[in-house]
Amino acid sequence: MAGGTLIVGASQAGLQLAASLRQFGDNRPITLVGEEIHPPYQRPPLSKEFLSGESDAESLALRAASYYADAGIDLVSGRRVTEVTLASSGRPGSGVARTADGRSFPFDRLALTVGAAPRRLSVPGADLDGISCLRDRDDAADLRGRLESSARVVVVGGGFIGLEVAAAARALGKEVTVVEAAERLISRAVAPVVSEFYRQAHLRRGTRVLLSAAVAGFEGADGRVTAVRLADGAVLPADLVVVGVGVVPRTELAEQLGLACDRGIVVDAHARTSNPHIRAAGDCTVQPHPVTGVGTVRLESVQNAVAQATAAAASLLGRPVGAAPVPWFWSYQGDLKLQIAGLSTGYDEYVVRGEPDSERFSVLYYRQGELLAIDAVNSPAEYMAVRRALMDGASVPPSLAGDPGTPLKSLLAARRRPAVPSP
Ligand SMILES: Cc1cc2nc3c(=O)[nH]c(=O)nc-3n(C[C@H](O)[C@H](O)[C@H](O)COP(=O)(O)OP(=O)(O)OC[C@H]3O[C@@H](n4cnc5c(N)ncnc54)[C@H](O)[C@@H]3O)c2cc1C
Repeated sequence: MAGGTLIVGASQAGLQLAASLRQFGDNRPITLVGEEIHPPYQRPPLSKEFLSGESDAESLALRAASYYADAGIDLVSGRRVTEVTLASSGRPGSGVARTADGRSFPFDRLALTVGAAPRRLSVPGADLDGISCLRDRDDAADLRGRLESSARVVVVGGGFIGLEVAAAARALGKEVTVVEAAERLISRAVAPVVSEFYRQAHLRRGTRVLLSAAVAGFEGADGRVTAVRLADGAVLPADLVVVGVGVVPRTELAEQLGLACDRGIVVDAHARTSNPHIRAAGDCTVQPHPVTGVGTVRLESVQNAVAQATAAAASLLGRPVGAAPVPWFWSYQGDLKLQIAGLSTGYDEYVVRGEPDSERFSVLYYRQGELLAIDAVNSPAEYMAVRRALMDGASVPPSLAGDPGTPLKSLLAARRRPAVPSP
């Protein structure tokens, strides 16, 4: 594969990187190698429409089957890259990758888009049958089947994925308990008022929510889980347990290559790793804060995977990288549609617009009076207004933002944000 780009990890970021190289006019060979047997697909529906049976596996595909041949992208599915070596002479950044089944892929340019793996619980009984996690399409298909034959479902972890699974299971009529170790739900991502809203909303729908509840172990019979045991001695009978306690970025290849890793593969705003010839993008990376540039963040979102992969493709070709886009995210838990724009990390004040009990409200986050982000529940117009405002560098003072009678759009006044410099 002379002059070619090798992309390891064939999912949201890997596919976007390949597609962007083509869009930017690169006509050199591209090989996209992925461990999963399925062509690149969307993960978000796995805990939502796909799990609840509203959509099928075919609708998950990110591109039509014909796309890869048409775009000249060599998609190699079902192969895990286990070893990557850089050439000691010749073009900087070139080398060869080997897969677990012995295939070799020489490359001139390398990108790692290897994502993250679900974090496992290391408590007694964690390997019993009936304890599942949800990261890929096979996990979701398996879980969908198991849900049909389970009456009592315990979800360990009250983050986005745990709550989405809980909502889907409850909508299927299951008896659902969410067990969260922290004092509140989704505590790393939202303000206490939003956490409390979700606790109450799930309770209203018949889901039991246990907070500050640590799992001590699982009980089983004949190799199958029968209950979850908590640290306080409580025992929750369960036919099915879903563990959603976060992910661990896959840094093994990066470490093999001697790239800097710190809670993920460290990259700059142009998706360059500590070896400036190698790119990395998506869930596996840690990057400078995309809005303030101060400190680093690891983002797990489709928007981030797409944005970073696009930046990686541009910087590989020596093209200018645009200003860092405003991050956005969504979590649909049944009929509760949360949309987030911006990053609320480091906020020192927030303003609630509307009444959480109405299940239609939003929360604006500020730091030193500057608008950082919005969480909008069933409020798409508010979400869009703030997302646009953050893109345009516009703001609304916290003292005015709390009046739900005045549309946010009309409250926002323009103020520019600096762009990220080109390489
Ligand atoms: C259930 C679920 C629901 C989600 N919901 C939302 C949502 O509502 N909104 C949102 O914005 N985001 C959501 N996300 C997050 C979003 O899907 C991820 O941020 C996105 O998929 C990241 O893309 P990625 O390409 O970086 O990593 P991944 O999608 O994890 O892909 C990495 C790929 O690399 C492969 N790979 C790893 N190592 C190797 C190797 N050595 N050799 C070959 N292949 C390898 C993996 O098998 C995998 O296919 C959700 C994720 C999950 C799991």
